[in-house]
Amino acid sequence: MWHWKSLLIFLCLCSWALNANATEVIVQKGDTLTGVLKKTKLSDFEVHQWLYASNLVKEIGRLDPGDKIKLLTEANDTQLIYQSTTGKVVKFIKLADGTVMVDQPLKIRPVKRSFQGFSIKHSLTVDGRAAGLSYNLLQALADIFAWEMDFSRDLKDGDQVQLIVEQKELDGRYLSPPEIVFAKIVQKNKIREAIRHVDADGHIGFYNSKGQSLVRSFLRDPLNYSRISSSFSLHRQHPVFGGLRPHSGVDLAAKRGSPVWATSTGKVIFAGIKGGYGKAIIIKHGSRVSTLYAHLDRICPEIRNGSLVSAKQIIGYVGSTGVATGPHLHYEFRIDDQPKDPMAIDLPRLKPLTGMAYLKMLAERQQWLAMVMSEYAYT
Ligand SMILES: [Zn+2]
Repeated sequence: MWHWKSLLIFLCLCSWALNANATEVIVQKGDTLTGVLKKTKLSDFEVHQWLYASNLVKEIGRLDPGDKIKLLTEANDTQLIYQSTTGKVVKFIKLADGTVMVDQPLKIRPVKRSFQGFSIKHSLTVDGRAAGLSYNLLQALADIFAWEMDFSRDLKDGDQVQLIVEQKELDGRYLSPPEIVFAKIVQKNKIREAIRHVDADGHIGFYNSKGQSLVRSFLRDPLNYSRISSSFSLHRQHPVFGGLRPHSGVDLAAKRGSPVWATSTGKVIFAGIKGGYGKAIIIKHGSRVSTLYAHLDRICPEIRNGSLVSAKQIIGYVGSTGVATGPHLHYEFRIDDQPKDPMAIDLPRLKPLTGMAYLKMLAERQQWLAMVMSEYAYT
């Protein structure tokens, strides 16, 4: 917010400095737009031009006492800048031929930012709902950290959730649904942060304080599981065949029929029955990595050899086909066909923020941290 505001003030100051011909009217109680425009010493014809050759009335919306309207006259055009007490700014330009345009770059939607915090006693959903947060917002929070942690499993009693949420003003008075701009999860041994960064193309990403993307190229988990029933091991006693056999994946226990998703985008290179694996799917991701999902109860009909899948796309359902003692997912992660422990591997991240983008993100983080700190100072 600060950078936009200072940019705006800077631009205004420049305009003021360059233009001797400027007037400003502060809206009084009971003022109409026509009345205000007349106070700027425009002729009746010009007032008529402004009102009827543009979307002025619609763009400005309701006038409130304290709102400001400035007129800047230059050789070739006249600018009208409306600034509400809530921070909404709309700039219009009237060209010499009388056409009026809204100047989009300066049309800044005001935003409301607020702190939301709660501690965990039961679960993210129960405690978050009790603190007044919507399901959608809580789901968005879980999605932001999906590559880092599983809220249903990893949150413990006493953990703190601290959020800064933003709501945009739409059509004057209505606020858009809240969006997370900053999230901090304070656990006994770990503090995680997610800082929103919007790039020049408008893409939204979440980063930690080092500028690393929270989005990994692979999701940690291929399903919501209750526990790891057998971990990755190159030497283990096989539960069915006995003897020492490597377990080249992890067994994730879950109810029969639980959905299983692809952990990254890729291409299906196998979907069908594969010996002891039972119903299984193998997905190739890029040139070096493949993932395998075994003992499925069923495979989604659209998942066939050659199908393209996206991260988190549901590909099948947990079962116990093949050699399995009970319903679970056997999940493998291979690099250059060498099995790796999916739970221990440091999954690659998307591109980090660098340069100005990183500095901008850090400056915003400071602002969010200050907001969070002030909350705790007063309570
Ligand atoms: Zn297994």
